Amino acid sequence: MKSFFKKYKGYFIAFMIVLIVTLICVENYVAEETKPEYVSYEQYQEDLKSGKIDTVYYSADEEYMRYTLLNEDTKDMTLEERLEYDKYEKDDWRMTMYPAYEDFRKDLMEYDVNVVVRSFTPNTLAVLMSAVMLVIPFYFVFAMFTLISKATGGGAVKEEDLIQKSNVKFTDVVGHDEVIEDVQFIVNLMKNPKLGEVTGARVPKGVLFSGEPGTGKTLLAKAIAGEADVPFIYMNASSFIEMYVGLGAKRVRELFKIARKHKPCIIFIDEIDAVGGKRTSRDSHSENSQTLNALLQEMDGFNTSEGIIVIGATNMPDKLDKALLRAGRFDRKIMINPPKDWRVRKQLFEHYLKDKPVSSDVDLDVLSKQLSGFTGADIESVVNESALIAAMHNEEVITNSHIEEAIDKVVFKGNRSKEKETEVNTDKKIVAYHEAGHAVASYLLGIDIARASIISSTSGVGGAVFNQESDSQFLTNMDFRNKIKVLYGGRASEEIKFGTVTTGASNDITQATNLIQKYVQRYGFDDDFGLLDINVLERYMDTDKIMTKFSTMSKSLYSETMKLLQENYNLVEVLAQKLLVMETLTGDSIKEILEMNK
Ligand code: ADP
Ligand code: ZN
Repeated sequence: MKSFFKKYKGYFIAFMIVLIVTLICVENYVAEETKPEYVSYEQYQEDLKSGKIDTVYYSADEEYMRYTLLNEDTKDMTLEERLEYDKYEKDDWRMTMYPAYEDFRKDLMEYDVNVVVRSFTPNTLAVLMSAVMLVIPFYFVFAMFTLISKATGGGAVKEEDLIQKSNVKFTDVVGHDEVIEDVQFIVNLMKNPKLGEVTGARVPKGVLFSGEPGTGKTLLAKAIAGEADVPFIYMNASSFIEMYVGLGAKRVRELFKIARKHKPCIIFIDEIDAVGGKRTSRDSHSENSQTLNALLQEMDGFNTSEGIIVIGATNMPDKLDKALLRAGRFDRKIMINPPKDWRVRKQLFEHYLKDKPVSSDVDLDVLSKQLSGFTGADIESVVNESALIAAMHNEEVITNSHIEEAIDKVVFKGNRSKEKETEVNTDKKIVAYHEAGHAVASYLLGIDIARASIISSTSGVGGAVFNQESDSQFLTNMDFRNKIKVLYGGRASEEIKFGTVTTGASNDITQATNLIQKYVQRYGFDDDFGLLDINVLERYMDTDKIMTKFSTMSKSLYSETMKLLQENYNLVEVLAQKLLVMETLTGDSIKEILEMNK
């Protein structure tokens, strides 16, 4: 096999080059055919101000945007009718620069223009699709080529790629003081590998960090290596998995061989669930389980006085094979949690803003309270992004609006996905009314809103309303009921507007259910039961009765929410329309809009 490919390699490359060149020519030709007229930004502004523009199509990650001009058909249509219209001719289209980072959406609103966020016009999309179809066979050839070269000797673990020197210190890690205390013993052990023998205490060989991505697992492991001043050996477990049987196991053995040569040292295995997942009887001979076995053998094969500690990281500890967690392996488990409250998020902001000029209008307390659920990695990105945005504006300090803009980018990163945007018109409308429902319910019930958005968020929900995190830990029964109503507000609004409901509310329903369960079972808020923690009395309870309680409560809260929104639906309408144009609104502007229309 190998010699065959060697022999014909020249032909192969020539063939691929010809293919690529043809493709590029074809694509350019077709693209040229369908490209709208390119006009200057001034021309665009003139079109806008003279009311000639129908719809603007843009995507924040593209340099150019396209727009349609009103034609004979569309000039008398309403905004909504125009969204449905699809008989544009080539002459109706124009193209100009996309003015990134300017408030250009505000202008669009003034002139009654539709806005669609997406990357491609249908025509170029078609061209790209066909190009992709042509590229696929080429890709396969290429993939085969690389695979063969790997199988025939490539892909060995390279020592110098694995070993890093870490300069990270514990002071670089924010909000994990307890964890740092817990792992201090590793630092001591690295400095004096015999320590375990001396004290007679049983020292673990492996520590498992579990927690969401971006919470600082890697950072902590590096900090341990940095504090102890020992080499940091990084390996991502997914790179153990190869198509060729035996290669994963071989890599594990090589990894430990390298570690022995450089001890004392820290081995960090990221995403360890990739090899350490539960074995099933079906795949007990598979590649995965061979790799896992190799890992177990290696861990059993050294003793702690050698000065090697293996740190594994995962965000799904439940999925790990029990064998990995047994004594002498990863038998110390440490949770690495996201910031536990806004104070930690504030510390993270302060940490990353330390050496950056910040304007006095930035209120870190307010920001940190808004961003519940943000990890250390998220906050670091927000800070970096806002510094970039400030630089792009040629401003010397980071202002609050730079940070706001950066937050939007980080929350919604990578979610302006192309496939989703083609269905944008109807979906977006539903999402807008759904989110407006949450926001209006919050407003009417006196709960502060941090922001609302209809751009898909990473949570997979269509959009999002972020409620301000409250300082108080004590909630009254009214607070509970109001929180549940806000969660129901999205679904209720959909029902009022469209008469049907979508699956978009499933996460809301889960959250509301949790609250209802706590309300009845934990906090003794329910009058019928009295001040009892039902969990304590569980075995005396009739589950049917509790279930009935839950569902009665849910139904009555939902109908109260429906009533509240029905009576104030003009507010939902106004806000939903605004969201369709602006996509994201801050808490302050929501308040302003609602106050004005009340
Ligand atoms: P994980 O390994 O848990 O996915 P990382 O350690 O790779 O997360 O975090 C990515 C980056 O985010 C880090 O390099 C660091 O810059 C930042 N970060 C995350 N958590 C923290 C934290 N607690 N303190 C300081 N920085 C953090
Ligand atoms: Zn919702």
